[in-house]
Amino acid sequence: MEIYDVIVVGAGPAGMSAALYTSRANLKTLVIEKECPGGKMIKAKKIDNYIGSESDPFKLASNMFSQVSKAGAKYVTGNVISIKLENKIKKVILSDGKEYNGKSVIFAIGGKVGQNNFKYDYYLNKGLSYCAICDGSFYKGKTVAVIGDNDAVENSVDYLANIADNIYFINIEDKESTRENVENFTKVTDYEIGGKDVVKYIKIGEKILDVDGVFYEVDSNNFSGFINEITTENGYIKVDENMQTNIEGIFACGDIVYKSVKQVVVAASQGAIAAINAIKYVNQNK
Ligand SMILES: Cc1cc2nc3c(=O)[nH]c(=O)nc-3n(C[C@H](O)[C@H](O)[C@H](O)COP(=O)(O)OP(=O)(O)OC[C@H]3O[C@@H](n4cnc5c(N)ncnc54)[C@H](O)[C@@H]3O)c2cc1C
Repeated sequence: MEIYDVIVVGAGPAGMSAALYTSRANLKTLVIEKECPGGKMIKAKKIDNYIGSESDPFKLASNMFSQVSKAGAKYVTGNVISIKLENKIKKVILSDGKEYNGKSVIFAIGGKVGQNNFKYDYYLNKGLSYCAICDGSFYKGKTVAVIGDNDAVENSVDYLANIADNIYFINIEDKESTRENVENFTKVTDYEIGGKDVVKYIKIGEKILDVDGVFYEVDSNNFSGFINEITTENGYIKVDENMQTNIEGIFACGDIVYKSVKQVVVAASQGAIAAINAIKYVNQNK
């Protein structure tokens, strides 16, 4: 039976960073990705805030992938559907029936935001954004709407209030922003986004608000399946400071881990932490 030291599930920035570290430590590493290397960052028009790289996201993804491949990680395309624990071995099962065995597993499968779960996803990069921290600076002096929940006040509305001139905050819950340039709409259940090719307005009841952009910041992550034994919190995988889950030898990093800051730089750094601790785990269990 072939056994990998580390199986990384997902080849976004978190998974590729993790695989780089484990491969460079000479651990037998397998990366399993269901789509293509790069993860959610390749949905971005531009990534300007990854330090050292003002880059086309495809170029960034392709550089990451070639670095990981050169370091020796094996890459396969496949959709992981479950993980079975067999003593210390983790059996990773794909939807096509293939199975891979690992001494450790790193979950780097990303979160749900931006994965076609929003009705108006077709406006993505045409005035719709899922991330104020990523795209806020493109709206300097403009008018934007934020559709969000209570967490969006801190995570995006107040952040954007320093950049945009006017903000309409459409909250599906009840918290308001106290910033002067924010108009609050609370407990909104129904709205419509419109515009011919790009976002032009948002309609609430009979009220039409002209906007240059809309930020959708409703958190709807719901990690389930794969492995029953894993502990989650608010739909995210719960980890300790070593990025280890409640199961020894299973780590998680990036957007699938509970946190408010979903960024490439955070995913990559968490991938490194998960990898370094996976290396220690594999070495201790030799
Ligand atoms: C439109 C958009 C613009 C953004 N702009 C920026 C920006 O400018 N700057 C910035 O820092 N961040 C930006 N982000 C956020 C950034 O892309 C994410 O924070 C980052 O990609 C998270 O990395 P990750 O590796 O945790 O997850 P992801 O990038 O989501 O990668 C997870 C990977 O796992 C794979 N996967 C999932 N499930 C399985 C499975 N069952 N089996 C196998 N593979 C699986 C997925 O196909 C995916 O490739 C943006 C996000 C979006 C959507």
